Amino acid sequence: MNLIRASAGDEQEALILQSVDRFLDRDVRPVVHALEATDTYPAEIVEKLKTLGLFGATIAPEYGGLGLPASIYAKIVERMSAVWMSVPGFFNSHLMMAGAVQRFGTEEQKRRYLPRFASGELRGGVALTEPDCGTDLQAIRTRARRDGDHYIVNGAKTWITNSVEGQILAVLVKTDPEARPPHKGMSLLLVEKGPGFKVVRKLEKLGYRGIDTGELSFEDCRVPADNLVGTEEGRGLQQVLNGLELGRINVAARGAGLARACVQESLAYAQVRKTFGKPIAEHQAIQIKLADMATRAEAARLLVEAAAAAYDAGGRCDLEAGMAKLFATEAALENSLEAMRIHGAYGYSKEFNIERYYRDAPLLAIGEGTNELQRIIIARELVKRHPA
Ligand SMILES: Cc1cc2nc3c(=O)[nH]c(=O)nc-3n(C[C@H](O)[C@H](O)[C@H](O)COP(=O)(O)OP(=O)(O)OC[C@H]3O[C@@H](n4cnc5c(N)ncnc54)[C@H](O)[C@@H]3O)c2cc1C
Repeated sequence: MNLIRASAGDEQEALILQSVDRFLDRDVRPVVHALEATDTYPAEIVEKLKTLGLFGATIAPEYGGLGLPASIYAKIVERMSAVWMSVPGFFNSHLMMAGAVQRFGTEEQKRRYLPRFASGELRGGVALTEPDCGTDLQAIRTRARRDGDHYIVNGAKTWITNSVEGQILAVLVKTDPEARPPHKGMSLLLVEKGPGFKVVRKLEKLGYRGIDTGELSFEDCRVPADNLVGTEEGRGLQQVLNGLELGRINVAARGAGLARACVQESLAYAQVRKTFGKPIAEHQAIQIKLADMATRAEAARLLVEAAAAAYDAGGRCDLEAGMAKLFATEAALENSLEAMRIHGAYGYSKEFNIERYYRDAPLLAIGEGTNELQRIIIARELVKRHPA
C-alpha cells in the first residue's frame, strides 16, 4: 500500500508528516551510522521510499504520483535531512527529471515514463555536469547527433547522483554545437542504460555517502529520437533551469533540516556536559552560540517556507528559491561547525552525528547552483523586479 497516498487524498499534512517521522524512526535512524560509515547503498531504505510513494511526490496524480505541493514536499525533505541528508537525494534529482517530462514532455512521453518514475520502477536523475564544466552549462561538450530515428550520444558526465544504481537519466546534450548563443543548440534527452552508456566509476566523497554519485561516459550510445524531451531541439537548458527552482527549494530544505539537527543536539549536549561545576549551557560563550544557531535555523526554515509558497503560487520564483538556498545552506555550514565546537572532542568523534553533519553540509553550498551563483541570481532578480 502506498502509505502517503492514503493520507494525501485527505489533504492531511499532519498525517503525511507522521508517516515520514515513523519511517525515519523505524527504518533510517537505527541504520544511518553503519551505512554512512561504510558508504553502503541503502537498498532497503530506497524500497521503503517506493512504498511511501516518494518517487512520485511531485508527479501529478493522473500519472500515478502524489501531486504534493512544494510546501509539503519541503517539509518532508527538511525532516529527512535532520536524520540523514542522503535520503531525500534518492528522489530529488529523480523528481527534477520527472518534472522536465511533466512540464515539457509530449503526452506520449508522459504516459510512457511518469507512472514508472512515480512508482520507482525506473529511477534516475539529471546529468548536466561534465569534467570540464558545472556552473557554466553552456560550455558542455556531450554531443547528440541525429541519425534517422535515433540520436548518437558521445561525451562524458560526472558527479551524477543516482547514476550508478538508477536506470535512466535526463542528459543535457548539444544537438547543435555551432548554435549561438550556445543554449539554442542544447537539448534534453532521456537516456536509459544500455549499450554505449557506461558507468566509469562510483565517486568517493567527503560526505553525502550511501547515495551513489557516478562518472559516466557515452560512446556511440543510440537513443530513440522520441526520447528528446518535448518535440523541438534547442530547449534543453531552459527545461533544466526551470526544474532547478524546485531543486533549490529541496536543497534549502536540506540545509534547514541539517541546521535544526545541529541545534537540537547541541542544546541537549550543552545541558548535560559540565565544566567548572556547571552545564556548559550556562557559560555565556556557549549561550551565544546556541542563540545564533537557533536563530539561523529558524530563519532558514521560514525562508524555505516562503520559497515553497511562492513556488506553489505559480510563476517563476528564482529570487525566493535563491535566497532560501543561499541562507539555509550557509546556516547548515555554520551550525555544523558551531555544533562541533560545542561538543568539543566528541564532535570530532565518529561515534557522534556531529562529524557527519560537518562533512555533509558543504555539499549544500555547491549543489543545484553554487552559493556564489545564487548571489548572482538574487542580485539579477532584484534589479529585474525593482527597476530604477
Ligand atoms: C555530491 C555531488 C552530487 C552532485 N550531483 C549532481 C547531479 O546529480 N547532476 C549534475 O549534473 N551535477 C551534479 N553535481 C555537480 C554540481 O552541480 C556541480 O559541482 C556544481 O554545479 C558546480 O560546478 P563545478 O563543480 O564544476 O564548479 P565550477 O563551475 O568549476 O566552479 C568553481 C568555483 O567557481 C565559482 N564560479 C563559477 N562561475 C562563477 C561566476 N560566474 N561568478 C562567480 N563565481 C563563479 C563557483 O561558485 C565555484 O566556487 C554534484 C556535485 C556533488 C559534489
